Amino acid sequence: MRAAIGVDLGGTKIAAGLVGAGGVVLDRASAPTPAAQGPGAVLDTVVDLVRSLLERTGGDVVVSGCGVGSAGVIDAVSGAVSSATDSLPGWSGTRVRDVLTAALAMPVAVVNDVHAHALGEALHGAGAGSPTVLMVAAGTGVGGALVIDGRVQSGRRGVSGHFGHVPAIEAVGRPCTCGGSGHVEAVASGPAMCAVYRELSGDASVVDGREVVRRAADGDAHAAASVALAGGALGRMIGGLLNALDPDVVIVGGGLASAGEAWWTALRDAAGAERLPLLADTPIVGAALGADAAIVGAAALVAATVMEEPA
Ligand SMILES: [Zn+2]
Repeated sequence: MRAAIGVDLGGTKIAAGLVGAGGVVLDRASAPTPAAQGPGAVLDTVVDLVRSLLERTGGDVVVSGCGVGSAGVIDAVSGAVSSATDSLPGWSGTRVRDVLTAALAMPVAVVNDVHAHALGEALHGAGAGSPTVLMVAAGTGVGGALVIDGRVQSGRRGVSGHFGHVPAIEAVGRPCTCGGSGHVEAVASGPAMCAVYRELSGDASVVDGREVVRRAADGDAHAAASVALAGGALGRMIGGLLNALDPDVVIVGGGLASAGEAWWTALRDAAGAERLPLLADTPIVGAALGADAAIVGAAALVAATVMEEPA
């Protein structure tokens, strides 16, 4: 039986899985990301996790390689990190593919973690069977990817899918995490939704999006307005992307996708108002694979990459 290792490398946690046919996760291992200890320690942890999975693998399983979905912008040619946020100090410039290929002695493919997440959902999750999949993930930030025929469209610099940095009328004048302002992430991310709630309510104690969602469900009008603004801004953005890209399906994932019915209603209403009439029946659905999506997508990347490499 053939299988591949998939790794989801984030700022707080590294999760690895042994993934078999059909994107089935056969075994898994995870550890906290030693972010403060630097890139060397982070990659050592990845190697330890992959080795632990390999040691537990039965003799009838052939592992074809290791796919990594990593935080940061990944250069497709070098497999190195072009840019990363402060959640992984020193991560920018790290040659993830070269280091792991040498340490693991197997083919290694690296993509951005959101791209891996989208690929997993497109191939084996809510997008299975759809040729063109638009994935939108909203949580700490807002991002996603366009997947066409099982390939993430990563763009010239690997930056494609930074949907959070599309201008939004709801965000005019609001500073964005990228250093710009007026981008949809500045109202539609979890932290932005909290910030809007703090402004409206004057309650500076709320720093967790889940608390805003709870308060909205309990009838707090400021919380409800914050949730509606976040969901509506994301929905308007999705409607615009639908018009630009005409995918077969839109998958919405990330932490905010579990924010409840009010958020989803705002999102669907805004997307519905924005999209062109011909696109009225394009499904907008929730993600299906949960936390496994990036592992499954990263493992799928191995199959594609290994097959394409010259013998
Ligand atoms: Zn921005």
